[in-house]
Amino acid sequence: MTPEAIIRQRTEDLVERGLFRSIRSIAGTGPLVELDGRQVLLLCSNNYLGLAEHSALKRAAATAAEQAGASSGASRLVSGSTSLHDRLEAAVADWKGTEAALLFNSGYAANTGIIAALAGRGDTVFSDRLNHASIIDGVLLSGARLVRYPHNDVDALERLLTRQTGSGLRLIVTDGVFSMDGDLAPLRQLAECARRHNALLMVDDAHGGGVLGQEGRGSCNLLGVAEEVQLLMGTFGKALGSFGAYVATSRLLRDYLVNRARSLVFSTSLPPAVPAASLAAVHLVRSAEGANLRQRLADNTALFRALLRDEGFTVPDDPTPIVPLVVGDPLTTMTFSARLLERNILVQGIRPPTVPQGTSRLRCTVMATHEQEDLRRAAAEIGQVGRGLGVL
Ligand SMILES: *Cc1c(COP(=O)(O)O)cnc(C)c1O
Repeated sequence: MTPEAIIRQRTEDLVERGLFRSIRSIAGTGPLVELDGRQVLLLCSNNYLGLAEHSALKRAAATAAEQAGASSGASRLVSGSTSLHDRLEAAVADWKGTEAALLFNSGYAANTGIIAALAGRGDTVFSDRLNHASIIDGVLLSGARLVRYPHNDVDALERLLTRQTGSGLRLIVTDGVFSMDGDLAPLRQLAECARRHNALLMVDDAHGGGVLGQEGRGSCNLLGVAEEVQLLMGTFGKALGSFGAYVATSRLLRDYLVNRARSLVFSTSLPPAVPAASLAAVHLVRSAEGANLRQRLADNTALFRALLRDEGFTVPDDPTPIVPLVVGDPLTTMTFSARLLERNILVQGIRPPTVPQGTSRLRCTVMATHEQEDLRRAAAEIGQVGRGLGVL
């Protein structure tokens, strides 16, 4: 067979299994967006606070581009580090209450870079079974031993740690807020477990930053464990409405990562407009306006969860804007999503390998900027379509 024939066969296999994906163009950042010339209600964005469209971020990005150009021109270690990068790192460290912070070009680059820098052959990484793909990829890249523990099961983790002897470094990694389920990690118990077993603890708070805790500091702050987490990773592309990522950590670990994180060393740094927008976002989430947006988000989240429960769905009571409606098989999930789009509601279906087999789902996300009336209409439509498909 030719290489093209092999790829064609693999593509057809994806289609048959209901796992073929394609990209759709959307105009706007929500809660109403334009899709194929229609206005639809966006119910699957991670722009939880609506900051992507905030004038302070747009102005900061535009000014930085005017003054400093469209590119940084090189990696941070060559000539691509500006005072904006430095100021953003200082702002993140101050916000998170750590000695230092380090920027990465994306959450994906942060997780792969950090994990592969810290762990290697002879070391072990303990990873929650539902952790984000970028964490798994980081471990695979590192050459360290990967031990996956059952979701949020600290007792199982404890047993695995006890069994794992040897002199190598031990790193426990967990999502703070699980991206496809919206539940929180038991961070207090994980921190105690890490301390007992002399392991580093890293929390990926891509979905907690800006949303949870005092001044939006995230899940570790909410659960009162920030000081026991050695690596607080987060992103700017979700609630902070910008792009890129950071790790808030000690000076020792930051300096080591600057030397060893390959996604940092061998990649052009973020263009000036990006740290400028992120800096504005950090100021905003810490302000009274940020607190108001978080309150609106919490109110909308509680309302939407209650409305879906009234429709008959099983909806857990987590404090996050991520509301999963587990359907099961991928084809029904995609039909569910398509029927909602006919009714001008955009909720993306999520299938393996993003979620485990048999747990394909609609992943609904709420925004602070949603009107409650729109959430009511959406919940009613989701109920109707769900009943029509026999999902309810
Ligand atoms: C989105 C996400 C990432 C990746 O962040 P990007 O900045 O989008 O690359 C990492 N971890 C989790 C848990 C995420 O949800």
